[in-house]
Order: sequence, then C-alpha cells, then structure tokens
Amino acid sequence: MSAPLRLMAVHAHPDDESSKGAATMARYVAEGVDVLVCTLTGGERGSILNPKMDRPDILENIGEVRRLEMERAREILGVQQRFLGFVDSGLPEDENEPLPEGCFALQPIEVAAAPLVAAVREFRPHVILTYDDDGGYPHPDHIMTNRVSVEAFEAAGDPDRYPEAGEPWQPLKLYYHMGFTKERFEALHEAMTTRGIGSPYADWISRWEDRPQKWPVTTRVPCGDYFEARDAALLAHATQVDPDGFWFVCPRELQREIWPTEDYHLARSLVDTELPEDDLFTGIHAERVSPARP
Ligand SMILES: [Zn+2]
Repeated sequence: MSAPLRLMAVHAHPDDESSKGAATMARYVAEGVDVLVCTLTGGERGSILNPKMDRPDILENIGEVRRLEMERAREILGVQQRFLGFVDSGLPEDENEPLPEGCFALQPIEVAAAPLVAAVREFRPHVILTYDDDGGYPHPDHIMTNRVSVEAFEAAGDPDRYPEAGEPWQPLKLYYHMGFTKERFEALHEAMTTRGIGSPYADWISRWEDRPQKWPVTTRVPCGDYFEARDAALLAHATQVDPDGFWFVCPRELQREIWPTEDYHLARSLVDTELPEDDLFTGIHAERVSPARP
C-alpha cells in the first residue's frame, strides 16, 4: 500500500479553516488524503458576530467556547486539527492602535514559526495551504500566518534551521487561498440577480477596487459536492457566524452550477506542474508516492 498524500492547512483562528478551503479539505479527506489543520491562535479576541450568541456567559468563556466549536467543525470536515498555542492579536480599530502585548502578530518570526516548523516535520505534508502576503484581509494574525507559513515551507527541510524542531521535511507545494475574488462574487451576484434571488453582494462588489489580482488563480479544485460540509462546519462556529447572514444567501445548487471550485495561487513548487491545475497534488502523485493513486 502506498503512503497517503498529506495536506496541511495553516490558519490564524478557529473558523478560518471553515471559510477558506473547507470543501477542498473535505474532498481530499474523502479521497483518502490525510489533512491537518494548524490553528495558530485560540481566537480569544474575536468578537461575537452572531446576535443569538451575544450573551455574557458565552463572552466570559469565549476561549473554551471556540475550542468546542472548532472540535465540532473538525469532526464535520473529517480533518485532524491542532492549536499551535499563540494568543489572538485582535483586529485593531485603526492602524495606529498598538497590538496587545504578547499576541501572535508581535512575536519575532523565529518564535512564531517554530511550532509550525515542528508540526511540518512531524506531519510531513506534501502540500501546504495558507493566506497570501496581504493576509487575504488585513488582520494582523492573517498577515503573520502568511509569514510563518512561508518561513516553515522554506526552513522545514533545512537541517541547519530550527534544529530543535525535529527531523527535516521538505513540503513540495505552497498555495495561497484565492476564494474571495471579485470575479467569483460578480458571477454569483449576476446569477442570483438573473434568477430573481435577492443578492446581498452588490454593495460589497461596488466597493471592491478595480485592479488586477495580485496573485492570479492557478488552480481550481472542484469540490461542489462538499459545499454542505463546508457550510455545516462554518455554522459550527456559532459565535462567529450568523446563520441568517451574508454567507448563506446564495443557494448551494446555484453555487455548484456557477462556481463549483475553490481556487488557489501556486506560490511555490518544487515539482513540475502545468498551469492551470485542478488538483493540489498535480506533479506529486507520480513523483513521490508510488504506486500512483487510481
Ligand atoms: Zn481569522
């Protein structure tokens, strides 16, 4: 029997794994790939974004509540998950507001990346998913997540770096999530409007800057069959997601018809591949895992 392929998704907070790449992970799990989510912080400073959960008893125990939510989402997606132990930096109200002492985004890179390097060397992923260098959105923890992921991708295979963090392992591909593109939301908006379904996206799209995407989509992974799992996992983060909100307005059938993929930018590759791709493991099957998957 061949060793399974392994996929690692690096995220800033519990809930990020369910809003970025969740259907992709559920699909690969169903295909026998080992998937590990590394969650860098506990999400201790997240606000409660679901009015029904905005209660003092929940706010008091937010760290524990979010751990339980994460556990439920993990079960739904069928992935493994671990927290890497940093403290949420919070989203500052304005850019001059100092970040709280000791938070993840203020750690020196060698400190912030060390647990991830150790996790990479232990789990030995072939592919790593992370955010782009703008963080996907400008939360300091998301930007730091990009930095530590790139650091871990580059350092984990080098025996001279992070010598305390285990036996070297070199991942082969690094991707950035590209799910939140203007192109995708315009397509969904247009399809909803044409069919007389009220779209909540118009205002959002109109405020989107009209400039070429910094990181072009190289890879579209078909995963429409797993949109139910994605949405169920997202709803499991009940303090963070309003079930009556924005994210759940577009019917899943319509999403499957108009945009049945989750999309990525291939940021680093140590294997030969041909773009565009429709599989995160293109170039890896034949080369590193034998026999090839059916
Ligand atoms: Zn986040």
